[in-house]
Amino acid sequence: MRTIVRDRLKRLRERLAERRLRAMLVTRTADVGYLSGFMGDDSWLLVAESGATLITDSRFTVQAARECPWVARVIRRGSMVDAVGDVVRRKRVRRVGFDPTSMTVAGRSDLARALGKARLVAVRDVVSTLRMRKDALEVRAIRKAIRVAEEAWAGFRRAVRLGMTERRLAAELDHRLRLAGADAPAFDTILAIDASGAMPHARPGDRRLHRGSVVVVDFGARVGGYVCDLTRVLFAGRIRPHARRAYETVLEAQSAGIAAVRPGALLKDVDAAVRRVITAAGWGRHFQHATGHGLGREVHEAPGLSARAGKQRLEEGMVVTIEPGVYFEGRFGIRIEDDVLVTRTGRRVLTGVEKDIGAMVV
Ligand code: ZN
Ligand code: ZN
Repeated sequence: MRTIVRDRLKRLRERLAERRLRAMLVTRTADVGYLSGFMGDDSWLLVAESGATLITDSRFTVQAARECPWVARVIRRGSMVDAVGDVVRRKRVRRVGFDPTSMTVAGRSDLARALGKARLVAVRDVVSTLRMRKDALEVRAIRKAIRVAEEAWAGFRRAVRLGMTERRLAAELDHRLRLAGADAPAFDTILAIDASGAMPHARPGDRRLHRGSVVVVDFGARVGGYVCDLTRVLFAGRIRPHARRAYETVLEAQSAGIAAVRPGALLKDVDAAVRRVITAAGWGRHFQHATGHGLGREVHEAPGLSARAGKQRLEEGMVVTIEPGVYFEGRFGIRIEDDVLVTRTGRRVLTGVEKDIGAMVV
């Protein structure tokens, strides 16, 4: 970990040097973890040429010493911004980069005041760009989260019964995620039956599972700071013709998207490959969200796979989701989501949960 952290910090300093910056204050929890190894939260990292300093508080004294002995640590007693001001003055830094996407307007003005003469310089997305391409250690961590999620899924499927509510079913899955080794679910599990499933981000409620129901389950595990994110659809007892056609269309669209993943491919072309299949089926307006997103320490990371991605391209080492869906208001929704690693020559689908339509009936 020490050499990995050193390498990541070196790459960040190179990016900062291009902007003639000699220091950056990292405030996003996932970025702090990436650049230091620290797994706690509420802590910031000041990366200067002379070294990185984790600014944390007494809740994390022991944890920080254990997880990131290679960076200097400041256990603050007063406010975070005052502690940062002290470190900045001690290091004689004149201009401090910060990521405006992870700071509030109020936080910025407090920080500016605490820094005194040193100036704040907004540098957007510099760490998130570094984080896009995963190293071998990170791919291993994501795979571990996937293994845990897949084990939980297998147990969950056996527990599904007619009459259960969305709330109960989501609890069954979350429980199994923990038992399988998750530190937590990667995000609030989406478990949506019939009309709820027509809302891409429905919350589990009191709707019950009936024969003929269509269930969208979007879930993941968080293990050792990394997550996975997958979606499967289950059919209770039987599959109605409309749902069957929708499922087969979404699955075909997803295959087309996965086949389009390779280093150098434009993100918007992957999105277009997926959308083309759904549009050809006459359901273009029923697929309104993006095709996918990067994932790693966070569930939604750069890059985003959508028509708005401009000239951005896939690169080796990126891990992205491919998750087309169609949603029929008041009736049901279908979404299928897998996690895909961009390899040197193409792609590897990391998630292996069964998705042939015949296997989705419970
Ligand atoms: Zn998802
Ligand atoms: Zn997703």
